[in-house]
Amino acid sequence: MAAARPWKIGIVGVGKIARDQHLPTIAVSPHFELAATASRFANIGGVDSFEGIEALLQARPDISCLAICTPPQVRYAIARQAIMAGRHVMLEKPPGATISEVEDLVGLARTTGVALQATWHSRYAHGVAAARDWLAGKTIRKLRIIWKEDVRRWHPGQEWLWQAGGQGIFDPGINALSVLTAIYPRRVHLTSATLFFPENRETPIAADLAFFDPGGAEMAAEFDFRQEGPQSWDIHVETDEGSMTLSQGGAVLSIDGQVVASGPDREYAGLYARFAELVATGAIDVDLAPMLHVADAFTLGRRINVAPFHY
Ligand code: NAP
Repeated sequence: MAAARPWKIGIVGVGKIARDQHLPTIAVSPHFELAATASRFANIGGVDSFEGIEALLQARPDISCLAICTPPQVRYAIARQAIMAGRHVMLEKPPGATISEVEDLVGLARTTGVALQATWHSRYAHGVAAARDWLAGKTIRKLRIIWKEDVRRWHPGQEWLWQAGGQGIFDPGINALSVLTAIYPRRVHLTSATLFFPENRETPIAADLAFFDPGGAEMAAEFDFRQEGPQSWDIHVETDEGSMTLSQGGAVLSIDGQVVASGPDREYAGLYARFAELVATGAIDVDLAPMLHVADAFTLGRRINVAPFHY
């Protein structure tokens, strides 16, 4: 007989990421058992379905953990209620719409003694830890991030992306920044940003970024949601001892053209294993470094108007 899973978990917001990753990952998790969903429209069957977080919290005090899989604009209010009700909380990325509200959640979680996790799923991709280890101690000369995908293919109909707080191209771009801040041997900061806004939208469809590295490397990033054909989620780095490319969002690491790390997707398995560690001790794992770069890009960003965007 399979061992009982220690923690009951609820999902809030049953959209693409909940269906693509959270539900299948929980289904095989040794730690978590899906006990309910809170959803405006969806009922996945087999577990309790509530219309919102309040009803779930009230009816199911036995559900100790919640994964908040909504868009960022509504994450804070939901997470706040969950933490105040003493539940452990996993926040999808980005962990909130602003840095201040996430800091507030960290303070609340600390006071309440619950676990809080900001999930940066790309950090769990196969090549990321190996890339960090390979870069350590090397002289880095140049780094280029090319993160270009077709928004119509990957985010069909997601209007929230284009509303203030939805971050536009930074919704995928922050994944690149989460990897950068995990592998780079020191802190860097943004020095310029050009943001391309469709004239009918509140958030950018593309961005060009440059960074200052106190170690002297030349660093830049290109993010674009208008990429048709081959998609790229790549980070190229040149060092004094060769070059590396972290491609497919961090899943494949090549050194001097040879693949040295790759494997099947394990990002959400890694996230849930980490959440289990946090829940076991009531600990907090919230790294705001990727969000700081995005906030700086919006602060520094030079705005260029481009053609309207329609799905
Ligand atoms: P989505 O398909 O649009 O789903 C979001 C869900 O949140 C909706 O289906 C809805 O679920 C709920 N929701 C609650 N309030 C909402 C509101 N005001 N507007 C729209 N939806 C609302 O989005 P997603 O792709 O799953 O992304 C959700 C979060 O996960 C984002 O922060 C995103 O960055 C992150 N993420 C997405 C991916 C991906 O590949 N798509 C990958 C990693 C992380 P109900 O109808 O059930 O209430």
